[in-house]
Amino acid sequence: MLPEARERALLLTDVHTVLHLDLTSTEDFGVEATISFRCTEPGSSSFLELNGGTDVTLDGQPAPYADGRIALTDLAETNEVRVTARMPYVHDGDGMTETIDPADGERYVCAHTSMDITQKVIPCFDQPDIKTTFSLSVTAPSHWTVVANGQLDSRTSGDGADTWTFGKTPPFSSYLFTLVGGPWVSVTWDEPYAPAPGGTLPFGWHARASQGRELERDAEELQRITSSCFQHYTKIFEPEYPYADYQQVFAPGLNWGAMEFPGCVVFRDSYLTQGAPTELEKEWVASTIAHEMAHMWFGDLVTMKWWEDSWLNESFADFMGFDVAGVAAGYTDAWTSAAITRKPTGYRADRRRSTHPIAEDTDKIVDVDTAFANFDMITYAKGNATLAQLGHWLGEEDFLAGVNRHLTAHAFGNADLADFLDSLDSATEHDVRAWAEAWLRTTGFDTLVVTRDGDIPVLTREGSRLHRLTVSAYDDAMRLVGSRDVQLGDEPVRLEEFAGRVVVPNSGDETFAVIRPDEQSWAAITAGLSSVESQLTRALLWWTAIDLCESQVIGVDELIALADQHLRPETHPLVFEGVMRNLQAITRRYAAPGEVADHLAVIADIARGATEGDPRLAPGASRVLARLSSDRDHLVDWLAQDDVDPSVRWAAVQRLAELGDPSHIDVESQRDQSVSGHHAALTAQALVPTEAAKAEIWERLMGGELGSHEYDAVAAGFWGWEQADLLRPYLDRYVTDGLALARRSGQAMADVIGDAFPRLPLSPAVRRELRAAVASALEAGEVPTVLARAWNDALDDLDRTL
Ligand SMILES: [Zn+2]
Repeated sequence: MLPEARERALLLTDVHTVLHLDLTSTEDFGVEATISFRCTEPGSSSFLELNGGTDVTLDGQPAPYADGRIALTDLAETNEVRVTARMPYVHDGDGMTETIDPADGERYVCAHTSMDITQKVIPCFDQPDIKTTFSLSVTAPSHWTVVANGQLDSRTSGDGADTWTFGKTPPFSSYLFTLVGGPWVSVTWDEPYAPAPGGTLPFGWHARASQGRELERDAEELQRITSSCFQHYTKIFEPEYPYADYQQVFAPGLNWGAMEFPGCVVFRDSYLTQGAPTELEKEWVASTIAHEMAHMWFGDLVTMKWWEDSWLNESFADFMGFDVAGVAAGYTDAWTSAAITRKPTGYRADRRRSTHPIAEDTDKIVDVDTAFANFDMITYAKGNATLAQLGHWLGEEDFLAGVNRHLTAHAFGNADLADFLDSLDSATEHDVRAWAEAWLRTTGFDTLVVTRDGDIPVLTREGSRLHRLTVSAYDDAMRLVGSRDVQLGDEPVRLEEFAGRVVVPNSGDETFAVIRPDEQSWAAITAGLSSVESQLTRALLWWTAIDLCESQVIGVDELIALADQHLRPETHPLVFEGVMRNLQAITRRYAAPGEVADHLAVIADIARGATEGDPRLAPGASRVLARLSSDRDHLVDWLAQDDVDPSVRWAAVQRLAELGDPSHIDVESQRDQSVSGHHAALTAQALVPTEAAKAEIWERLMGGELGSHEYDAVAAGFWGWEQADLLRPYLDRYVTDGLALARRSGQAMADVIGDAFPRLPLSPAVRRELRAAVASALEAGEVPTVLARAWNDALDDLDRTL
């Protein structure tokens, strides 16, 4: 934390912000802000952040405004300053984001703020430990709806424009300020809540007008998930729900998956899928709804003091997201999804050189870009898994009691790790500070190894942490014969009662550690994986096989053979889809170019089998089959049918383009003019395997004109995984052109350029060349922080394949 920020937090108290925003002009938007506050040392000076403003005035005079700051001098004990400015719209999702919907030409304006971005929208004291109330009014076109943090008080009509006035909010940090405007379609209801005046709170879901059909399709389920989560949280959390309403918006242009704005949560609009969502996508939506709602208490009501404790927000919300989607909203296999999709991202992040303690050292967070880079899978996935292990170790009741003490003690304020541990400590006999040292302040993960002493399995920990977990024993056909609770620390644990049996440690996936079964157990597991009854244990075992492949203990061909045998009989949609995703990613990253076609053929054939079996598997399997099939006639036949799901149609169009037939792209684009259709067409165009097409796509990719979501879509097609020879000249250019683009763009673009790292099957020699090019660019030291983080991670991932 910078000294001047610490100073400012001590200097300023009791902050209130009254805002009027005018969104009627398409050129820029107008801001009038009246900010009142008390100063603990009258006579001293401070500043407001405002980034990119023009015509900036302070109290009616041209403002002392430079370098994104408005100077405030000679402060009194109580102060009121009035700022006006014109502010630019942005198109990269970092700020007041203006989007034109390609489907109907409608305009949407969304304040996508977060760390250090609110200052691009309004003047503010932009640091998490200065909270302010907001009283907002917005003038916007009359056919719009405006939704914001506060509850709508009134709407008045003017000449072609209306004004929406929102009630004063409770105090929260400026990074949580938002409003969204546009011709939204909405589903609203009154949610029962006894403490509210009248016994209910206004709730709603909002989406772009062109997503009306999809919102209607999913409205009942979205409402059901929202209500169940809300009723659950208001039962388990002691502080009352802090805000006057709860609106959720599928907002265009958002760079995050979702964002926890108090009373006005926004989700990436692609979460409202155009085609039939897969079971995994449905579970993610439920978990994300639960995640964001947990933030209303953990993050918004009680906020970290500074960015090094962002994990306090995110690890907790991520844990609650999966847990509450299960216990409250009926997605009872959410932890199975976590085991095969979420948690692996945590292990992968934790074995890279960029890993960091979940609770990072304050002095390592040197700037906002470093803090941004730490919103990673250590903070989310590993933090989630670690809190799950803490809850398992303490027991649910004590864990929740500690959490409630924390929420009550720091409501409407800020807290850090020491405060959180104080709260937990007061609720349990266990030594939570030692636990935090071992789990939150270290990097890396332990390995749980099974060996045999004669017939007796012995469980040993390689590492440094105390684990509480379930060990299950099976017969040779993988039928469960028993389970027991084990605390594993320095001393090996002899499992006498499981003598001669197959054993699986962490069978309930309670702890964050990889497992290495003994030879006898692994032989039985590989022979009988699909016979294991618990889907959670199957997910854990699949992850173990994937981890063994990524650790080069088994080959990609062995993993594919395991899938050939045991994924075909898999009927659980989350396990099936999660494993299929991993297989594709591993083939891309680890397979040799000459092996790819064979691996893809097996994966496509497994998908083909699933499209004819359990209907819950079909939506995901159909997309995989369409995307990987080499049967052109079959793909063309698919497109000739009218009732095929749009996402499957686009997968077929993309595959045909990749196979050299781009003729279906324009036809499909005509048929589907939605945002997702636009992105799918960009991916398809980028897949066309000719030198001329790739050259043209490259110009687009590096030209600086694409928005971040468009960039993602083009990059997703560019590196076709059977196109290694054609793409060879672009590996070096990715490093040079990508770096040049990142240096003239912002954080959001640096992030997507990093995501666009060439991941395709390459020969070891070519991988080494790519590695050398990236390493020398990094050594030259000119790579922006966010891109450097992505490239260092990519180097570690490349090294694992070499
Ligand atoms: Zn979050």
